[in-house]
Formats: sequence, structure tokens, C-alpha cells
Amino acid sequence: MDRLLEERIARNDATFRQANERISAAAETYRVDMPVPFICECADPKCSEIVRLTLEEYEEIRADSRHFFHIDGHRDADGTAGVVVAERDSYVIVEKTGHAGEIAQALDERNPHEGLERSAADD
Ligand SMILES: [Zn+2]
Repeated sequence: MDRLLEERIARNDATFRQANERISAAAETYRVDMPVPFICECADPKCSEIVRLTLEEYEEIRADSRHFFHIDGHRDADGTAGVVVAERDSYVIVEKTGHAGEIAQALDERNPHEGLERSAADD
């Protein structure tokens, strides 16, 4: 797969993940203990589907920088940049592989290893 395409996919997923991080933080602040509406983290920039996850389910996915959740049926938007590692009732967990995985890991806000976002954004 084209490296540029893989990078675009990973960056798009990471953008949704950043939005979901804010949703998660807000839910934690208000001590929400029911499923929270998160945004599908698939590679389609126009996707606005909602996936309801408990904070525990969300944290389980977030524990791995290369893992993202998609509505079942949206996994194809990733092409070959990811593999499904778990299937749940209303969503699947996809692991970014290859170059897309490297980018996804580097763009993880929780990952202290920074730098890629800044340098790659300049070109
Ligand atoms: Zn989607």
C-alpha cells in the first residue's frame, strides 16, 4: 500500500481519536457510568457515525496506540492499513499495521514520544 495513503488514513483516524479523547475526559469529569457516544474512528473523513462505549471499553482500546474502533462495516475504509483484532456487538477494533501503525503510534497524544506530528505537519 502507498505510504502516503497509509499516512493519510492514520492521520484521519488520529484526528477522530483526539476528538474522542476530549469526549472521554468530559465523561470522566462528570463521572458518567453509562455508555458514552464516541465518534467512529474509521478512515472516512466524512464519517460521523456514533459508537456507544463505556469508559472501560474505551480505555481498553486506547491502551494500545495502534488500536482504533470502527462501526462494523466501516473497516473497509482502512483498506489494508489495518487488521481487525476484535469484533464486538456494534463495533470492531482495528489495529493499524505497517507505516499506518507507526504514524498512529507517533500521533498518540498519550504517547510521550512526540515530534513526528510537528515535523510532518511542516511539509
Ligand atoms: Zn466510520
